Amino acid sequence: MTSTTANPNLDPSEVAKFQALASRWWDPTSEFKPLHAINPLRLQWIIGLTGGLHGKRSVDIGCGGGILTEAMAQAGAQATGIDLADRPLKVAQLHALEVGAKVNYEAISAEDFAAREPGQFDVVTCMEMLEHVPYPESTIAAATALAKPGGWVFFSTINRNPKAFLFAIVGAEYVLRLLPKGTHDYSKFIKPSELIGAARKSGLELVQMNGLTYNPITEVYKLNPADTTVNYLVAMRKPA
Ligand code: SAH
Repeated sequence: MTSTTANPNLDPSEVAKFQALASRWWDPTSEFKPLHAINPLRLQWIIGLTGGLHGKRSVDIGCGGGILTEAMAQAGAQATGIDLADRPLKVAQLHALEVGAKVNYEAISAEDFAAREPGQFDVVTCMEMLEHVPYPESTIAAATALAKPGGWVFFSTINRNPKAFLFAIVGAEYVLRLLPKGTHDYSKFIKPSELIGAARKSGLELVQMNGLTYNPITEVYKLNPADTTVNYLVAMRKPA
């Protein structure tokens, strides 16, 4: 169940996948193992670029069970997480209570939240979410609207090319079984040029792009700016 009905930028079948898995969100051996594994990497990247999160207002769009949101709170941010799946949000809230993290979670769309809190955030993150929405450019515009002038906006998603199909779908879902089959839909993958183009159109400037690679033998993830062919992240800034 989602709290918002008739949201044009919501695919109910996508949100249903995450609703169903909510209880396992914080199990580091579960379907969410990859998110747990990459979290320290993306958090450190964000901290490095922003000069630290202490005292900064952050919002995590499509936060799910709050793996990144909570880590940003623990790094000192006044953290908010939003999503349209209410079950992962409840799990996120409980987990924050358990570990004593102060996070504000809300079931609201990025578009509605941006209309309510425009220009309020030093750091906006939207990770592994754009490839699950019908209109990513609308989410990107909302992320931009949420940022303060001079604020940071971070996105991560999956590139669209034959290698990405092979690694992110065949490899991750069928061979290595890191993710449940059907987690990702190739046609929704986003090329960096498309993401950066939409972000520029909404008023952001590109600061840095990074790739995320996985070695199935060592089971180690790494940030590698030289390889954005499959998973990648972009750091953008709203002009001051
Ligand atoms: N960003 C988190 C979770 C990624 S999983 C992380 O990287 O750790 C993708 C998340 O996007 C899920 O929680 C799902 O509920 C959410 N999502 C999918 N479609 C959405 C939409 N239209 N609006 C808000 N959240 C959405």
